[in-house]
Amino acid sequence: MQVGGSGVLKKLGKSSILVTDIANQFWCERQMEFNYLYGKKYTKYMAQGKQLHEALQDEVYVPLTIEPVTYMDVMYKTAYENYRSLLSLKEKGICRELRVYGSLNGYRLSGQIDEMKVVGGKAKVIERKTTDASRKLTEVYTRPHVMQVRLYRKMLGDIRAKKYTHDNFVNIYGLKKDGLSETFRRELHAMGIKDELANPYSMSELMFNALYSIPDLSDRLEVAYVDRFSGKQISSMEIDYNEEKMSVDIAYALKFWNGERESAPVVESEKWKCNFCKFFGKECKVWWTG
Ligand code: SF4
Repeated sequence: MQVGGSGVLKKLGKSSILVTDIANQFWCERQMEFNYLYGKKYTKYMAQGKQLHEALQDEVYVPLTIEPVTYMDVMYKTAYENYRSLLSLKEKGICRELRVYGSLNGYRLSGQIDEMKVVGGKAKVIERKTTDASRKLTEVYTRPHVMQVRLYRKMLGDIRAKKYTHDNFVNIYGLKKDGLSETFRRELHAMGIKDELANPYSMSELMFNALYSIPDLSDRLEVAYVDRFSGKQISSMEIDYNEEKMSVDIAYALKFWNGERESAPVVESEKWKCNFCKFFGKECKVWWTG
């Protein structure tokens, strides 16, 4: 963990950075920060998005239904579901809702990839966004989504290149060969999971081995836009993975987490975004004229 940056994480009540945090920095960084400082409301739109994601996940595999009790149970469940998802990628050429872990200049980073599909022998990262059919897909609107898929692609690339390994994961998350609750362990047993795999360390090792062996990653990424009301796909955008552009954007984003600069509000030409922001005129008065 970075020394200078830990102050910012602490102030926001966080221990790691989410991929969506970085994506949101490219919409309005100040809004991202204020969401942590002043509370995130669970909006109707977010609930709809969650339902859609759950429905899509069910199409591919049935998630583990055992309720985790301890931290290790949670980590086990995630590793197990990821492993099943990666099996689906191998067998059916598609997987959904894959949690991905990594490190960004020493910061703990995690995210959840909506979908991966094998196209022409390569694994392609796809992100789904709910939107209104009337919404124009301008550069400003799609910028955070582009950042998000590129980051997922980078994290998967780091794992495949073993820049981020199972050892890193185990050290960072403190995974052990014990720590599962009795109920959880009993249910794993009832599901027929072998004793040697009924611990978070071994299950996460299986997950990482599956991650190391995913097909070559495609440099074409996709953001699919889904109508918020009908759930149908209305358009999609193909994006190139541009490593150089990524490093510039990441360096900019990290300056905030390092505490080298304050959060940036939107620029004047994008102040229309403030009309959709719950902090406008309250916690944030940058573009407020009263
Ligand atoms: S009011 Fe505008 S500048 Fe302020 S946080 Fe919201 S979107 Fe950003």
